Amino acid sequence: MIVTPDIQQVRNIRHADPTLTWGFVPTMGYLHEGHLSLVRQARAENDRVAVSIYVNPTQFAPHEDLDSYPRDLERDLALLRAENVDLVFTPDDSIMYPPDFQTYVTVEKVTQPLEGASRPTHFRGVATVVAKLFNIVQPTRAYFGQKDAQQTVVLKQMVRDLNFDLELIVCPTVREADGLAMSSRNAYLSPAERKAATVLYRALSQAKVAFEQGERNGERLRTLMREIIEAEPLARLDYVSVADRRTLAELDEVGKGALLSMAVFIGKTRLIDNMLVGEEG
Ligand code: AMP
Repeated sequence: MIVTPDIQQVRNIRHADPTLTWGFVPTMGYLHEGHLSLVRQARAENDRVAVSIYVNPTQFAPHEDLDSYPRDLERDLALLRAENVDLVFTPDDSIMYPPDFQTYVTVEKVTQPLEGASRPTHFRGVATVVAKLFNIVQPTRAYFGQKDAQQTVVLKQMVRDLNFDLELIVCPTVREADGLAMSSRNAYLSPAERKAATVLYRALSQAKVAFEQGERNGERLRTLMREIIEAEPLARLDYVSVADRRTLAELDEVGKGALLSMAVFIGKTRLIDNMLVGEEG
């Protein structure tokens, strides 16, 4: 496994044999089973696998957790070695954002609601860093988690709009035994908060059951989730949503399917989770 912060070295390795397919998994490190599920799918579907580890400052607002974001590079590299990863790109800020940096990628409509409403500069940072990583690694396929549902919608739009020559693949959310979606940020939770954090999964699951029992009213589904979150004393709701899975617009009436999603503060830690209900399309 080659570990390098050097863009030219990544390019040389990538292009050494043009007949090989490359799968790519961008991450911010502090890896867990959610990340590793992406790596395993990339391993199964490609000749070579590249992973990037980079805590991207442009996707954090000034008041957010950039400085405290958990990091453990040695542990991450051991986990990736065990998955037979070929290449790990570990740039730093001076490589990704040199002092004269001035170009950003702005995806318009689908970045406005949900996470974009709460974190107005977040997706500009995500789209910019992922566009850079795609240009550096030039993967055949890139793997992202359903955990960050809006991110997958935004990046699919960017791939289409900017004609990136790759296939973007979305992998299912990996959860702890009690339903909590795995996240590097779960490390911030105290034991009491960790227990309370299952409220996101409980709310989404109950809304999904209501949908499956025939509930199609968007507002009633949102209310159901909101009431479950509000009943948990350590939780503070940021938003709940029942939205079109492609446009992310809120739905009054759910047709065949929808994206149920939410952001909830558990103490100071902001967690997101989602479930798809119904059929595609
Ligand atoms: P991050 O390091 O948080 O930027 O995540 C890197 C990639 O892993 C993103 O595509 C995430 O959506 C994905 N990911 C994070 N948590 C999970 C999870 N619990 N299940 C599946 N994918 C995940």
